[in-house]
Amino acid sequence: MQRLHARYPFLEGARDAVATQAVDLVTVVEQERPVVERARERVVAALEEGDVGEPSRDPRTELLSYPVARVLVSLADQRVLVRTYARAEAATAYERFVADFEDTTELKSVETSGVTLEELLSEFDLERAVRETETGYQVGVGAYLPLAGDLWESEWRLVNRALERGEVPVDEDELLTLVREAVRERVEEGLPFDVPEPIAEALTDDVEEIQEVLAELDLTREIDTVVPDLFPPCMTALLDAIQKGEHLPHHSRFAITAFLASIGMSTDEIVELYRVNSTFGEEMTRYQTDHIRGESSPTEYSPPSCATMVSYGDCVNKDDLCERIPHPMAYYERRLDETDDDELEDWRETVESEEA
Ligand code: SF4
Repeated sequence: MQRLHARYPFLEGARDAVATQAVDLVTVVEQERPVVERARERVVAALEEGDVGEPSRDPRTELLSYPVARVLVSLADQRVLVRTYARAEAATAYERFVADFEDTTELKSVETSGVTLEELLSEFDLERAVRETETGYQVGVGAYLPLAGDLWESEWRLVNRALERGEVPVDEDELLTLVREAVRERVEEGLPFDVPEPIAEALTDDVEEIQEVLAELDLTREIDTVVPDLFPPCMTALLDAIQKGEHLPHHSRFAITAFLASIGMSTDEIVELYRVNSTFGEEMTRYQTDHIRGESSPTEYSPPSCATMVSYGDCVNKDDLCERIPHPMAYYERRLDETDDDELEDWRETVESEEA
């Protein structure tokens, strides 16, 4: 099996490689523990780290772990897991292809494991839609719109682009982000699917473990209580920065907005909370919040995990509880659980009584 397929298991060629080897998934899940363990690690790392973890040294194990991971995601059967997993596969693929494009020194051996931009564009039927220019690239609007549909920053909106003769100008980084989105869509396609009983049975313990991680991260529970004093330190710092009128980078603004939406705040309430910011842009906040909430986009977003917050430099002022939780939502839920109900004063009720 080619190393390229192990590195990019969502490629059509990788699927064909698995098919032509007549790999029987029942036998794999029953008899090849390293494949199943790597598959489970792909899904758990997606939840905890936002990527798919360290690859196996054995290309066969690595390649087969991808279809098995899709089976695990299907068996766990949670919408939020499908989204998070697809995003993590796409994030890992993105890191790898960016490294491949930068690697001009690789001696092209008999069996190369890298891809070129042209190969990826052709994989996703984008070669005709993307045209290189002197300053960057032009992407046909028909290809651009579905790929940018899940990107929440306002810069991706068509009204903020100099659309000309049916083409949208993008720079190289933006083009690579669109290719990442094409990977995410490919991974998400068809998930979850029905899994035959013998395969499901062999994976019972692995699915349980994934469900435990999901429960621990608590991405699925509905919280509807807004007590800023109990927010995790990272979110308190981001909210303070917004209220002081500081300019936040996109990832930070995304993190705090997704957090506030996940704890039950409506778009109007988030707009209200941000309003003290002198550089506050109501229209942009509304657009971003509706997008994150999934009202103006195909996806409802969850706030980033602690691992992602750390990697963006947004994890600050950690306290003792931070050492024991993997996600800002888990932090907040723990603090809510530890506080007596009659001491929980919801910010929204306080605002209402002040206005009365
Ligand atoms: S450890 Fe997690 S919850 Fe605590 S500050 Fe860092 S990102 Fe926030």
